[in-house]
Amino acid sequence: MAPNIVFLGPPGSGKGTYASRIAPKLGIPHIATGDIFRRAIAKETPMGLKAKKYYNSGKMVPDEISTGVVIERITQPDCKNGFILDAPYDVQQAREIDKRVKIDVAVNLDLSEEGVIHRLSKRVVCRKCANIYNLRNVRPKVDGVCDKCGGELYEREDDKPEAIRKRLRVYEERADPLLDYYRKKGILINIVTKDPDLPPQVTIEKIEKALKEFFS
Ligand SMILES: [Zn+2]
Repeated sequence: MAPNIVFLGPPGSGKGTYASRIAPKLGIPHIATGDIFRRAIAKETPMGLKAKKYYNSGKMVPDEISTGVVIERITQPDCKNGFILDAPYDVQQAREIDKRVKIDVAVNLDLSEEGVIHRLSKRVVCRKCANIYNLRNVRPKVDGVCDKCGGELYEREDDKPEAIRKRLRVYEERADPLLDYYRKKGILINIVTKDPDLPPQVTIEKIEKALKEFFS
């Protein structure tokens, strides 16, 4: 089995965490979009060099180059026995990827809007050292004060419920057609998380079980 897996899910769904925990157990690399961009640029790969030009001029990197960076990465030798691609992309990019690499299964981390808001709005950041506190798991010793440096903790604009709702709308615009695309191919696994406070391990086991069933 050389599973080429895509993880999808809204911000706060935990897909990055799950992907990074499951990939090593399958002995395949976890590929996160942010990382591959930094890596492609640092290594000055052909696509990295193209992306760099846009970065340096402060312009948005065009979709074809973002897709190019992803394809360049998933065609590296370490991906020949599979990978987990944790990437928010759209149908157009999925089609381009399919021309080069066969995606075997897409795992969607399905968390309700309230669940996403519950998870993301419980974050505060230190103004001084930028340490992030997820108040669901870690409470600072003194409310509103950073344990590490004594700085003031605040909620980022981005993490306020209204901003989260907006981010979700933006996400859904791209993701809904993409989910349809994989559903029609018959390779979509939907993992529903009803309780946003469940420990990650519970969802990880659920995903592993679903993958096992899918490939059996
Ligand atoms: Zn601090």
